[in-house]
Amino acid sequence: MEFVGTDRIHPEWHLYEQFISQRWLAVMQNDAVSFSHPINMQITRNDQLTSIFDAITYSKGSSLLRMMRNFMGESTFNKGVAQYLDKHKYGTAKQTDLWTAMGQAMIENNIALPMNTTLEEIMSTWTDQMGYPYIQIDRNYGSNTVNITQKQFLFDIDAQPPKSPHNYLWWIPLKMRSQRANQSNIMWLSKNKRTEYNVLSVSSSSSDWLLELEINYKTTESFTVTERAGLVDDVFNLARAGIVPASLIFDILKYATKEQKYIVWERILSGASYIEQMLSNTPTYDLFKSYMTDLILPIYDSLTWTEQPNEDWLSSLHRDLVVSAACRYDTDDCTSFAIKKFAEWQNEPSINNIDANQRRVVYCTAIRLGSRGEFYFLLNQYQQSNDPQEKARIQIALTCTRDIELLQYLLVIHLDPNIIRRQDALSGIRSVCRNFVAEAECCSISAGIQDKGAADSEFKSTIERIRANIYWINKAEPDISSWFLNRTLNIRLPTDWTPTLYEIEIDVQLQSTYPNNTEPNTKFSGHTIVTVNCSRSTSELKIHSKNLRIQSATLKRSDNTKNILIDWSFLNLTEIMVCRLSERCQLNQVYMLDIYSSAELDRDMAGFYLSRYDVTTNSEIVTHNIGATHMQPTVARKVFPCFDEPAMKAKFNISIIHDASFPTVRSNGELIQTTTFPNGRKRSQFDITPPMSTYLVAFVVTDFECISAKTNKNITVSVCGRPEAILNSEGDYALDVGSDVLTYFEESYNVSYPLTKCDHFAIPDFSAGAMENWGLITYRETALLYNNKTGNLANKLRVGEVVSHEVAHQWFGNIVTPLWWNDIWLNEGFASWVEILGLNNSSPEFHPLDVFVTATLHRALVMDSLFSSHPISVDVEHPDEINSIFDAISYDKGASILRMIYMVITEQRFYKGVSEYLNAFAFKNAVQDQLWEYLTNATTPSSILDGEEIKTIMDTWTLQEGYPLLTVTRNSANGQATIRQKRFVLDPNSTNQTSNYVNPFNLPFQWYIPYTYQSASGVLSPFEWLKPNETKIINIPGNSDDWLLFNIDQFGFYRVNYDLANWDRIMGALKTSSYNTSFSSVTRSQLIDDSFNLARSRDLDATVPLKLSTYLCNETEYIPFSSFSTNIQYPLIMFSQNESSTAYKQLQMYVQNLEKPIYTVLGWDSAVDDDYLKRQLGSLVIGDLCANGLTECSNRAVQEYSQWKQNSTYSINPDYRSTVYCQGVKSGTDDDYNFILNKYKLSNDQVEKNRFGYALTCTRNERLLGELLNDTLKGEYIRLQDSSTFIGRISVQPGGQKLTWKFISTRWAELVQKLGSLSFTLSSIVESVLQYVNTDEDLRNIETFIANTQDLSIAERAFLSSIEKIHANIRWMNTIGNDFRRWLDSNVNQTGCNS
Ligand SMILES: [Zn+2]
Repeated sequence: MEFVGTDRIHPEWHLYEQFISQRWLAVMQNDAVSFSHPINMQITRNDQLTSIFDAITYSKGSSLLRMMRNFMGESTFNKGVAQYLDKHKYGTAKQTDLWTAMGQAMIENNIALPMNTTLEEIMSTWTDQMGYPYIQIDRNYGSNTVNITQKQFLFDIDAQPPKSPHNYLWWIPLKMRSQRANQSNIMWLSKNKRTEYNVLSVSSSSSDWLLELEINYKTTESFTVTERAGLVDDVFNLARAGIVPASLIFDILKYATKEQKYIVWERILSGASYIEQMLSNTPTYDLFKSYMTDLILPIYDSLTWTEQPNEDWLSSLHRDLVVSAACRYDTDDCTSFAIKKFAEWQNEPSINNIDANQRRVVYCTAIRLGSRGEFYFLLNQYQQSNDPQEKARIQIALTCTRDIELLQYLLVIHLDPNIIRRQDALSGIRSVCRNFVAEAECCSISAGIQDKGAADSEFKSTIERIRANIYWINKAEPDISSWFLNRTLNIRLPTDWTPTLYEIEIDVQLQSTYPNNTEPNTKFSGHTIVTVNCSRSTSELKIHSKNLRIQSATLKRSDNTKNILIDWSFLNLTEIMVCRLSERCQLNQVYMLDIYSSAELDRDMAGFYLSRYDVTTNSEIVTHNIGATHMQPTVARKVFPCFDEPAMKAKFNISIIHDASFPTVRSNGELIQTTTFPNGRKRSQFDITPPMSTYLVAFVVTDFECISAKTNKNITVSVCGRPEAILNSEGDYALDVGSDVLTYFEESYNVSYPLTKCDHFAIPDFSAGAMENWGLITYRETALLYNNKTGNLANKLRVGEVVSHEVAHQWFGNIVTPLWWNDIWLNEGFASWVEILGLNNSSPEFHPLDVFVTATLHRALVMDSLFSSHPISVDVEHPDEINSIFDAISYDKGASILRMIYMVITEQRFYKGVSEYLNAFAFKNAVQDQLWEYLTNATTPSSILDGEEIKTIMDTWTLQEGYPLLTVTRNSANGQATIRQKRFVLDPNSTNQTSNYVNPFNLPFQWYIPYTYQSASGVLSPFEWLKPNETKIINIPGNSDDWLLFNIDQFGFYRVNYDLANWDRIMGALKTSSYNTSFSSVTRSQLIDDSFNLARSRDLDATVPLKLSTYLCNETEYIPFSSFSTNIQYPLIMFSQNESSTAYKQLQMYVQNLEKPIYTVLGWDSAVDDDYLKRQLGSLVIGDLCANGLTECSNRAVQEYSQWKQNSTYSINPDYRSTVYCQGVKSGTDDDYNFILNKYKLSNDQVEKNRFGYALTCTRNERLLGELLNDTLKGEYIRLQDSSTFIGRISVQPGGQKLTWKFISTRWAELVQKLGSLSFTLSSIVESVLQYVNTDEDLRNIETFIANTQDLSIAERAFLSSIEKIHANIRWMNTIGNDFRRWLDSNVNQTGCNS
């Protein structure tokens, strides 16, 4: 009761929290041995009277009262106590009188007990037997239930407690809650049953409670302080009793670096001290100590030694606890402070300047780490002091010594009443014996003490504890030790060391050419000096290094010549090199890490690698070699040892030593000096870079040609590549657009480009599209080079887009970098959106803003409509995970939702916010919330955002997968429309699956949706908002018979559905001659795309898109046709699996009917000066019609092919070349195939080469296709980077699906080995091969393969999403496919435009 009373007076003491640790949890220790005793104990001997005034009586008693107070409620408890006191005042009372009074109060207050029990019976199970239960909770995740079992909790599993009247079963009041459910009412676990089954249905969550503890502690404090203390204490004790593995302790404690509360820390450190004692003589002890230091440091740093003004009592207890632990585990800062303080006192014994609160820790630390001098000094102080508190402190501190002779001496003087008073002796001896060094001495002394008397039972239980300890440590030590070893598998680097400068010299043994074109088997060596700051005093330095051979490594303080690096080892799984130091580094001192390494110059397109290309002169082929780099995301560590995380920015001073046969050697900084060595080799030295992330480091060693231009700010822009290509002007367009967009972004961002030059290099072997290395952007050739004779405008557009994208990154990504890879979507999405703005500025003739909708937004909508999609902002750690999120979701959805917010807030505010963001975080890192903050601030008035912050809005788009379907239902009577939202899922049957991602919202899959609308007779509405879970009724101005359209020009990343009547009005309007003034070409494209997809998701009658598309016979623009062509592919491929089916033929006829009118207009004769969109349209309809059986089309194609084959100077219009080559091979012979194959092998023009490659996959000859598949893995004439394209194209040819699946399933291991390290390749192979499978039998084969394959590598996600697609395909065939068949059957003949 003292607690209840005091809490009223001093609530600031947090006594209830205090209570938990002092009493409830502490008593559990004493009561967990078989030599404990019931609270109600038969007293048979006098000495037992003294010994029962122990913790059991005091603390267990009060703990039971607290338990009662909790289950009956405070008012009932107080009422019962009052009645009890009232009845028995001035008399004596038995325990049962209290139970009776409390029971009565419960009845009066209607608090139920379990059937047929009384409070007395219940409490008897707690007071008339010793010990207490532990409760085992087993969750059944299938049925969402839990089983609850009770057992007596004993540290020693072999202990035999005496018989109990209740057989060690208890009546247990229980409260439960889960992540999503509130606390339950009290329920009772009966003493009559050990196990209760299915007692409670817990709300759904598939993660276990351990995981919940971690996740929830991060986001919200889901567990109260008391619950956390209870969990921590339970896990320590359960581990100690061998009920759970000891490593679970450390799993639970992962969260503790964020824990602030005293009561929890008290339990952590108390539990840890047991582990410490147990491990003290094992090899694991050092690992444990360093683990504890890491755990304590954050809280130690925040509390410090110094008391704060107005600090409450609990905080000062907390400080004392944490500081003392920090010193005990040898945290440098702590021990050096203590030793310094003690030394001051020792030097001047008359003045003790040590703060009273600090003395305990200072004394103990000084004694433990000091020599006998400190010990005798302190002992002398003990004898001189008359202050009982000081004496008590010193007495305890003396026992901290590790010197066994001093401990023996201490025991001796404790038995000498002239030195230590008898009344203080026992506590001192206990304290000595708690020092584990002294265990043996204590055993002998305990035997020596004559009159054990009251201590008898204490000694007995000590022996039981020791026996349990020995048993425990033997069992637990291997588990703990392996946990600590795995701890070093942490993928992230510690932040102990901060790099500021890398000086890198790379020496590459490579020549431009070799006799007989031999492939060089060569290597490069590197000398790396990293200037690092010691940010935390540690005796270890971890740095990334992968496949590097380290010749030497030293670490010296910058002002010192002493090497403190003893040795190093490698953690291969995490690609980390661990350097062991001879001493801890000094905080905030600068060190130089100096490493010599070497590695292979491989052809793996990762790190620093070898790339080759052929030059044909007078029919002689010479193979040239170059070296190039690609570091993103985690490959720099393969080139030089580095802190390979984006947040660890540093400056780079790079030089390259190379053969004189390479005239064009570049890196991020400008070339500032070239030196020639006597042997003719050269050293190229580059300018130091601004602080930047390691993944942006780049250098190339080439014999390329370059062309250059200067911007108005005097920045040199260069485009470099194979001499043949550059001299053929293929870099000219890239140079134009590269210079234009550099100036455009400099002005739009309002931030200067921070380097003096920007190089663009076309690398023959390149795994990604391009890479935005700062000042030295590298590309696949097709993304940089444009040949205006062989290339068409689509090829040119691609160059413009990619160059603009990479230049956009020079600010957004390079100057300000995402803190970690989970925000990569922001980097890529942003560049993918502003590239469009940059290109629109530099090359508006491509209509980039319109093309974006069909090329990017529609693609993202399809990807993100699968249930297996992922949030664009996703937690990633392992390099494989990091690689896997560089996907279309990150790029295309990211760009689409940024476009949406850009449209809402306008370009001017958008760039204002971005500019301020770039300035605020220049040369540093940021997270997405910081961009939202700056964009919000730039958006005034706030009514534009409906008064919300951009973060609130955008979180609904980035933190959950998928997107909404806006459903508009009109009321024709009153002109109103109701709008509501739900998640759009392409396959409605997939929604019963569980998402792989934790949805952070209370209202999951609801969005903040900006919308606009327009009706036939109305004007465009301003932006308005539909909130999560909102249904809105809006008044539509104008005639209620009008068509109504939402999401005008598809600015928003979502789809819109209408009632059928409105769809009919839209279709009606499309069929009129004013269709193209009512609806923009983007809107027409949107209507086609939405209707096809809504039909697939069964939100719309399947025949609507087929009917709607018939308007296309009047259509003249590319954007709508492009949507139609894309959407009709799916039904075409589904039906084509049975090539001779009527449905396939009818669908082909349908396509012919809709596209033939425009084909007739455009013909085969597009002109060079025709608009880009017009030429695209011509190319599109020729491709579609030739593929779908229009004989006049394929005849013309074959005719073109033959003319060209016979006369190599005959020039086919580049717009149609793909179709012509394909038709030539398809209808041709082995000779035609080989003719094209030869062209493919010899061509250096990547655009032409791609067309030849595509044509090869058009052959109907299965033998040839088989050979072609084999060649994709040989790495000979087909570069590995192109293998996925080949396999994907073969798979969509009739019969190709089965062929390609057989190929990848039988040779999977080889694919993983050869392609696993190339960012996208393996996943895209899996996706393309599996996406159109539509039979149950094939599905079963694939599922078996997945189940039986150990290593799915980075394609795991691709397999999962493919399975979902296959299920959808099968369902489509049985449902919508049938609707299509029926509609085509009755309507295909009427879809001709002239009818
Ligand atoms: Zn990018």
